[in-house]
Amino acid sequence: MLSRHINPDDIVNHLREVAPGLSHPASRPSRHSTPYSSKYTAEAPIPKYRIPGEGASSDTVYQMIHDEMNLDGKPDLNLASFVGTWMEPNATALMNENLNKNLSDADEYPALMRIHERCISILANLWGEGKDTSKPNILMGANAQVALEKFARYFEVEARILPVSEGSHHRLDPELVKKNIDENTIGVFVILGSTYTGHYEPVEEISNILDEFQEETGIDIPIHVDGASGAFIAPFTDAGAGGTKWNFELPRVVSINTSGHKFGLVYVGLGWIIWRDEQYLPESLVFSLDYLGGVEKSFTLNFSRPGAQVILQYYNLIHLGFSGYREVMENCLRNARLLSGSLEETGWYTVVSDIHRPVKGKEKKIESLYRKLGLGAADGGGLLGKELSGRYDEITSADFVAGLPVVAFRLSDKFMKEFPHVKQESVSQMMRAKQWIIPNYRLPSNEKETQILRVVDICIVTETLMEAESERSDIPMLLNRGRKHRLQLRHGKGPDTHRGVC
Ligand SMILES: *Cc1c(COP(=O)(O)O)cnc(C)c1O
Repeated sequence: MLSRHINPDDIVNHLREVAPGLSHPASRPSRHSTPYSSKYTAEAPIPKYRIPGEGASSDTVYQMIHDEMNLDGKPDLNLASFVGTWMEPNATALMNENLNKNLSDADEYPALMRIHERCISILANLWGEGKDTSKPNILMGANAQVALEKFARYFEVEARILPVSEGSHHRLDPELVKKNIDENTIGVFVILGSTYTGHYEPVEEISNILDEFQEETGIDIPIHVDGASGAFIAPFTDAGAGGTKWNFELPRVVSINTSGHKFGLVYVGLGWIIWRDEQYLPESLVFSLDYLGGVEKSFTLNFSRPGAQVILQYYNLIHLGFSGYREVMENCLRNARLLSGSLEETGWYTVVSDIHRPVKGKEKKIESLYRKLGLGAADGGGLLGKELSGRYDEITSADFVAGLPVVAFRLSDKFMKEFPHVKQESVSQMMRAKQWIIPNYRLPSNEKETQILRVVDICIVTETLMEAESERSDIPMLLNRGRKHRLQLRHGKGPDTHRGVC
């Protein structure tokens, strides 16, 4: 707001003009020779928006940029993004060693290319691959990520964006798919893991609808699964995609994408797509280039791009293996259940995501365990805390609704009635003041009146960190009533050990 009224650069420039001693004698040459220069002793300012006539020393410029970067949020406390922020030291070493390799230079980097191929083969296997018109439209839910809409716009395909609702669990509504397909529909995007609430869309159900449509009309509409997050989660978790099929096992699924930099656990800048068969990749999109003695095929929108992340993906796949990925994903989900249950137990929040609710048929198992422990409702938080201690290993994600390890929540109706002056976005702002990044945003399209707070990728959060925050949560201050509320993540005293939960 303030920036509307004042321009800090104008003030500094004005002071320099009018206050003796604050300006640098124009005649003196610029001197940026030490890391202190840009901070205190520079004799000429380094322009922000123009290239400086003279350069400055490496140390100075490094320090200046390094300092400015401190104004960014801390990636480790960023619960807003699906994109990962941590890798092991060995992975970081591989990143540094391979930073200078271009993924497009196939001839120069044959080892990189081999690793690239191996990653593709591993993913194709994980996703059930046994072997190595005039006005087109494509269907997607209003919860679709903007990348999908970009596709439609760039390729001049009509995007039929179907509203989502509480009834459809905030995801693609099969009934609306039925109503909106026609002879010009070139495909349906089905999202394995909605970015809004983490719900998996029902790929098999949509596939069955398209089968029926084909029987009636002869028109064969393929499915693309946007598995940006879920295609790296469902293959590994006990929950899978909730007992239904989602991948190449369904003949209608012709392509699947995933983000290596989300639950593939690689640094930002890596995505994968696999087609069921070469026939689904239009030849007109494939460019052949003669490249230093070989022929390379290229079908990506951009050409040059970094190759190091491919190596890191391979490192993770080999280093963690199936069991390692399973452990990480199960722990992420357990962690998300703990947070969901804890939020509900406060009575202040309603959790909109469903991964902490027992799946149909497992309610009894979960409830009897709860009773044994003397705890409350089946979707309360207590058991989840105990479960985290490893005593109840028999409980896995398969006992709960399948989805991404995402906790989407809002202030409960009861809370809003009792404290109408409290704005939900204040929770986000107060957490931001502690450097935690937890966005508050509106659900898509017709659900616009509902705002949710969302925590993602809580694999990066350790139990200790959550405890620490809950102990001194500022949220009670919002109530302004002097009543003592605490966001409790577990009953009684916290553990006296540091435990990563990832
Ligand atoms: C993140 C995301 C995308 C975009 O993927 P990037 O790897 O960020 O380009 C697309 N769809 C879904 C469902 C996502 O979560």
